[in-house]
Amino acid sequence: MRKLELHWQIILGMVGGVLFALAMVQFDWGPKIVSDWIKPFGNIFINSLKLIAVPLILASLIKGVSDLKDISKLSKMGGRTIGIYLITTIIAVSIGLTIVNIVKPGSSISEETRNELVENYKGDADSKISQANEQKESGPLKALEDLVPSNIFSAASDNGNMLQVIFFAIFFGVGLILIPAEQADPVKKFFDGFNEVILKLIDLIMLAAPYGVFALLAALVVESPSLDLFKALGWYSVSVVLGLILMIGVYISLVWIFTKRKPSFFINGISPAQLLAFSTSSSAATLPVTMERVEEHLGVEEEVASFVLPIGATINMDGTSLYQAVAAVFIAQAFGMDLSFGAQLGIIVTATLASIGSAAVPGAGMVMLVIVLAQAGIPEAGLALIFAVDRPLDMCRTVVNVTGDAAVSMMVAKSVDKLGEPKVKEWSDHYKTSK
Ligand code: ASP
Repeated sequence: MRKLELHWQIILGMVGGVLFALAMVQFDWGPKIVSDWIKPFGNIFINSLKLIAVPLILASLIKGVSDLKDISKLSKMGGRTIGIYLITTIIAVSIGLTIVNIVKPGSSISEETRNELVENYKGDADSKISQANEQKESGPLKALEDLVPSNIFSAASDNGNMLQVIFFAIFFGVGLILIPAEQADPVKKFFDGFNEVILKLIDLIMLAAPYGVFALLAALVVESPSLDLFKALGWYSVSVVLGLILMIGVYISLVWIFTKRKPSFFINGISPAQLLAFSTSSSAATLPVTMERVEEHLGVEEEVASFVLPIGATINMDGTSLYQAVAAVFIAQAFGMDLSFGAQLGIIVTATLASIGSAAVPGAGMVMLVIVLAQAGIPEAGLALIFAVDRPLDMCRTVVNVTGDAAVSMMVAKSVDKLGEPKVKEWSDHYKTSK
């Protein structure tokens, strides 16, 4: 019998998890059973993905950079990567601003609902605000300073320091290019082999993906707030989701125009990573799968994918920046503020920077939203308004973050002549278990 394709297996797992949780919440003891006996498996699944993120970046980036054999190729690719990332982020923020100004979701929210939301979520909002304040207190060059770790082991010991690991790997790769080939070869061979092992581990972890997402979504459903609040924030959520869908359309078109790859090819290739981004709300946790999909199913050569994707996972968050723009204007509308054109232009700049600064973990976009609000003079307490629906929107924006990285990697690959045929054509074969 033909095995179900991976993305269908994952979708089945997701739907199964939601239905199971909806059945369990009918019983008083149901939620506790899910939290105690199902949720841990979701956590194990996410942890196993995070576990290989740092070794994967190290091995694949060192191999990727050293394969370039030439520093000028590296700077060319670097320039294009950052340039295209910036452009897509600005497009995303602009789409968000346009939609929120047309739909005006904040104007339809009644004062009563507003007060209720502010009251209910004040504590949660305050904790995000204080997290943001810690980041805000640092000087303007802090981000640059943080790029260079003083110790690679301590940098690699924290998944939040991904950029430092990336810096080390690129630096190390440059060193490898510059030494004589006979000395570089054994080191390169080691990282080649290391890389293969990690890719195999990703295959193995993906075998558990349908069960992992079942557990993650079941836990999410039993822990989510009441549906009434969702309704109050309906138009706001619709605005964010609409913008995100449009952004996916933008990627598909860009890929089509610049690389001549059909939408179905792109979506089929990347969909398992999208589904995982949705289930985990973390581009960092999804990174191993994004890399594997892009290299093996979208035809991006390893030296490009291993460079563009880890950087993208940490700095290119188009879904997050779009959401920050919509959320900021929504909060302003809900408080009856009229934002001038200049203030909205300011939001384009701050949302772009804030999304670059957001960590690739669940809820990070909301922390950085505080900075966008502060800059635009919108009350930070407004964060409480959008708290109830943040998790589902986080799931959706993470899908866009990951899709954007994959699309840009294809464009960069095309521009440096490194976009080929996918390694795995019949990709369900790839995940077949030997029974
Ligand atoms: N969860 C998002 C990500 O990991 C970041 C965010 O909160 O917007 O890509």
